[in-house]
Amino acid sequence: MRLVLTRKLVLRHYAPSLVRFSHKQFNDDYTAKDFLPRDYKGFVEDKWSSVVLESSKAGEETSKSEPHKYIMSMFPYPSGKLHMGHVRVYTLTDVLARFFRLRKFRVIHPMGWDAFGLPAENAARERNLTPDKWTYANIAYMREQLDQIGLDFDWNRSFATCDPTYYKWTQSIFLDLLEAGLVYRSNAWVNWDPVDETVLAEEQVDAEGRSWRSGALVERKLLKQWFIRTTRFAEALYETLTEGQMESGWREVVLMQKHWIGVPDGIRVEFEVCESYLEANPDMDPTISSWTPAPHLLFRAGFLLLQPNHPAVHDLVLLDQGPALHVKNPLTGIEIPVFVVPGYKMKEMFDLEYPKQHDTYVGFPGENRKHDEVLRKLGGEPAPWNAIIESDAWKLLFKGSNSPTTAEATKEICQYLLKQRLGGYKTSSRLKDWLISRQRFWGTPIPIIHCRKCGAVPAPELPVKLPVCLAMPKGSSPLKQFADWSLQPCPKCGGSAERESDTMDTFMDSSWYYLRYLDPQNLSEPFSKEAVKDLPVNIYVGGKDHAVLHLFYARFLHKFFFSEGRVFCPEPFHALCPVGQVMALTYKEKASGRYLPPDMIQTATENSDALLVDKVSGEPVEVVWEKMSKSRHNGVDPKDTTERIGIDTLRLLILDDAVPRSERRFSLHTLPGIERWQKRIVEIVEEFCGARRDAVRVGQEKKAPWLQSRADQSVAANDMLTHDHELIQIRNKMVSIVTHEIGTLNRISVAIRRMMNITKELRIRPRSVVEKSKEYEKLLAAHIIMLAPLAPHLACELWDGIAAVQNHAVEDFDWGTNVLLQKWPQVDDNFPLNFYVLVNGREKVQERFPKSELFSWSDSEAIEKALVLPQMEILRTKASEAHVDLSHGAWVSRSDEHNVTVHLRAANHLTSGKWAT
Ligand SMILES: [Zn+2]
Repeated sequence: MRLVLTRKLVLRHYAPSLVRFSHKQFNDDYTAKDFLPRDYKGFVEDKWSSVVLESSKAGEETSKSEPHKYIMSMFPYPSGKLHMGHVRVYTLTDVLARFFRLRKFRVIHPMGWDAFGLPAENAARERNLTPDKWTYANIAYMREQLDQIGLDFDWNRSFATCDPTYYKWTQSIFLDLLEAGLVYRSNAWVNWDPVDETVLAEEQVDAEGRSWRSGALVERKLLKQWFIRTTRFAEALYETLTEGQMESGWREVVLMQKHWIGVPDGIRVEFEVCESYLEANPDMDPTISSWTPAPHLLFRAGFLLLQPNHPAVHDLVLLDQGPALHVKNPLTGIEIPVFVVPGYKMKEMFDLEYPKQHDTYVGFPGENRKHDEVLRKLGGEPAPWNAIIESDAWKLLFKGSNSPTTAEATKEICQYLLKQRLGGYKTSSRLKDWLISRQRFWGTPIPIIHCRKCGAVPAPELPVKLPVCLAMPKGSSPLKQFADWSLQPCPKCGGSAERESDTMDTFMDSSWYYLRYLDPQNLSEPFSKEAVKDLPVNIYVGGKDHAVLHLFYARFLHKFFFSEGRVFCPEPFHALCPVGQVMALTYKEKASGRYLPPDMIQTATENSDALLVDKVSGEPVEVVWEKMSKSRHNGVDPKDTTERIGIDTLRLLILDDAVPRSERRFSLHTLPGIERWQKRIVEIVEEFCGARRDAVRVGQEKKAPWLQSRADQSVAANDMLTHDHELIQIRNKMVSIVTHEIGTLNRISVAIRRMMNITKELRIRPRSVVEKSKEYEKLLAAHIIMLAPLAPHLACELWDGIAAVQNHAVEDFDWGTNVLLQKWPQVDDNFPLNFYVLVNGREKVQERFPKSELFSWSDSEAIEKALVLPQMEILRTKASEAHVDLSHGAWVSRSDEHNVTVHLRAANHLTSGKWAT
């Protein structure tokens, strides 16, 4: 029995012809009577495409003072071809943008190109092209593809990050960071990809130590690299994650980000290396950066321990006995020894451990017995107490006091270090600064000129453009090979100098693009304060795989701008909508794991154990869902699909069946349902138009039929009232639910299911209702408006039909304009909506109030109402016994047209036990 079922299931999905859209299958589908003919769809698409692609222009004209929604998707890398993952994300933002436009928001819905990166460089080399030619050709082609699926972006805000008018500002931001002390150059062990000849970030190396891109075994290499001091804002980055300011979409991302940043339970501190060592080792970094959980003890910092792989001890003789070098105590300036001790030895000898994922250890002899012993064994003397309290810093910070409290000392010391640019900010031991150097060509040039005398000097003029290249040079650091470009006079002393040949990590380009969208034409600065008043981004939609790095870097840069007063909100992205991957059925030879194209598969004979086999070898084949890709032979081409099933059908198909955060298992077995639904909506509209025409014809000598006297309708009057009442209920309920599902939860698939219910409810009404009922007309119009964001072409055509009917029963709509400019339907004021009370995010009371009443309450009134609800009685009693104020820290969330929720906090013991409902 089980086998039969499995076979059936597999066979339902298994249809190479469906995956590949063979012409035969395609024609079979489209002669089915339940489907809209492809010709009809083509006619509708052609008729309305310009209206559909330009509805945003009408939105742009609305005044600046209107409430706005900034809806943004992660911009694509212009690889040349749109894939189904793109279609999923961009269709979703398109639906949201159209939805909020119908709700009369001023919508910002931009699109651009994340255009720098290694693939362009490699492709250019292979094809003997230049990377810019390859990139811009791809952009043009992809733009066409986006238009083909009816996506309406604000193209006037668009840019490519590889354009000098954009990267000029990426460079200027780099120099701003440099000036603020947030950029430094340092020796670092890096992950070196020997095939792509570039540095890889830690996360770009897989568990087996291979490059994510080339698959090559990654090597360790010591290089001088540019870093951005992301640790500087670790505390701010961590804090906003815990304050509950982030919308629900952030939940899983918040955990990943928190893990990445780590609890900021110590401070960074820089120890300057003594001059004699720097003179002997000119390549050495001038400071050793360390971390300590005890900043208040820093006056006592008396030695440093380093792991043997620390870049500062590279090339230096390892000394088990005696210090490897000396650094200065950052407060007293007293020279302190640095010893190299491997972690295991440290544990063995002193029972001490390096901080988590950190390679330095700060010792406080005189404060800690174990540290005294370290110094005694390794050979050193703690600085005398007198010398410490006689130091300028001690006098300055404590003004003669010999015993500051821990809190006082911490505060004073941190402030002092910050001023001296020697650390002093809170971070975890695990968080590393951001290594942005890439030894590649196709990226934003780092705007620095190296002079032997003056060191690293900022380039005097921006942009520092990439050199014109006719053929891509081979090897690492290609920019070095352009001598004319590379050799420059020093901007300071005029001596001969050299441009920095590293380019920036492309994450740098994408970490501020949401700001440029708001001010894309600005020639004098990256963005103006005025323009970024439209922040934060209200909904940010994109792949889950960018949840850590991209979002972290963008949040970091935002914290920097916030600290400088250049933006006004502490976080850049309000709600996040992480989107799961698009998966497809994949055929794998069981024994070898080899991927097979669908047309190489056939069903096995009944007596075989396998269900499917390789056509040629007869080997059993297994069927699995995997991410779409060329190498897996499971890709579905959006262009090809659009041509065959139509734009609206593709849009509905990709949004149906799964909520955004889940994987979308793309198969065509949900296609018939989508097709039938569209056909039914068309039939309803046809019936409506026909019925109203007939009604007019019959009643020509009279007024319009719905204006007839009571006597004329007496027989059907009661029935009519019942139908009308039902139709009102359905409209209110469905408008409320669909609005909530699209606007708040972004669950388009659920909204589709609800809309299918509306279609069903309209279909079952008798002809006389279709002919005469005002409520029928109202629900039908509401239905087409709600369909418009999802299937805009079809909705335009259907609205056109309804609008053309003479003698409308309802005047709520602007029948003279197209559906994309209508007003989103609203719930009637007296319709009861839900009022929820959540305690600590869980226990729930549900009550219903008329919409007008519910939405008239202010936040404090809503909280007040929640607290006096009868169902709250038990908790109220418990709270007063425990002297807990329930309204403390309470907040209110509103899902427009759907519900109001009051969130209460309580001591945990109050919410446990039987009270929970
Ligand atoms: Zn110089």
